[in-house]
Amino acid sequence: MDKVDLKSMTLPKLEAYCASIGLPKFRAGQIFQWLHEKQVDSFDEMTNLSADLREKLKENCFISGISIRRKLVSQIDGTTKYLFEFADGETVESVLMQYKHGYSLCISTQVGCRMGCKFCASTLLGLARSLTPAEMLNEVYMAGKDSGHKISSIVLMGIGEPLDNFDNVMDFLDILSSPKGLNLSLRHVSLSTCGLVEGIYKLMEKKLQLTLSISLHAPNDEIRNQTMPINRKHPIEELLTACREYFRVTGRRISFEYALIEGVNDTPACAQELASRLRGMSAHGNLIPVNPVKERDYKKSSKERIRRFQEILEKHHINATVRRELGSDINAACGQLRRDDKGGGTC
Ligand code: SAH
Repeated sequence: MDKVDLKSMTLPKLEAYCASIGLPKFRAGQIFQWLHEKQVDSFDEMTNLSADLREKLKENCFISGISIRRKLVSQIDGTTKYLFEFADGETVESVLMQYKHGYSLCISTQVGCRMGCKFCASTLLGLARSLTPAEMLNEVYMAGKDSGHKISSIVLMGIGEPLDNFDNVMDFLDILSSPKGLNLSLRHVSLSTCGLVEGIYKLMEKKLQLTLSISLHAPNDEIRNQTMPINRKHPIEELLTACREYFRVTGRRISFEYALIEGVNDTPACAQELASRLRGMSAHGNLIPVNPVKERDYKKSSKERIRRFQEILEKHHINATVRRELGSDINAACGQLRRDDKGGGTC
């Protein structure tokens, strides 16, 4: 029988597992705290379990680990980019950023991505596999341990599409916010999606406190079909209908990501069209100068064009901020480090 990874189990799942091997329920609580509050790496560190019990656990279970394969620290703002490696040799990126209110970690949810967005480096090699809940937790635990900083917010905006790994991401969030674990409120978590509409409705049913971010990046189907293949499956109005419903049911304001690409989606006409699409949605626009990816010839919009875009949105009462660029000297573009490490040589 295959060994099971105890770190991937939510508390109710761990309780059910303990019951299945004849252990009382309180043992699950103890093991959970060792794994997620004290964050131990081995059964031998679980000192309130008897030696016999630790042996029994070792026979049937394991605790998955993570290692730092590369680490880049920005000389400009201290932003730290990790290339993490899992037991099977697969790698993902996480980025630790300092903001006024504390440290924020951007984590990956899959090894690679199959969504195919044209401006994104993460998708160039396709999808290798999804991450387990434990692997996502390990990104958080290791970044915290290595940096010595308390991580106060988490964004699911690294490599991968979180809603394409729905069940594992839900278990990850459950463990992350557990009072017996890191106890991080989901109010401090953002989940970003390219627009998997079924996933948005499923997430809506969970009524979580997190912030949903939609990677919109275009004001109409014509442009979005060219840059984001998902739009051919779920056109923009279908996506926005799901967003309106999400807001109605959860009461949580949605954030819309918009990476400005010179001459593609950054004209005043695009801004007008975007404003009329988002009208009445209680939306927040997050404008990002696109991070150029070598394989594509997209250029980032100039500061003036971005300011003009923002002004038009605000004139139409769409609240919009321009994202501060962090770690520009360590090439924080999504998926570049993993790709370089695989011999792609992008920067
Ligand atoms: N798959 C999810 C989350 C990962 S991508 C999603 O699509 O939302 C995180 C964010 O970075 C998304 O908004 C994505 O569109 C954006 N992004 C990807 N490549 C980028 C680039 N080269 N420049 C700016 N933003 C980029």
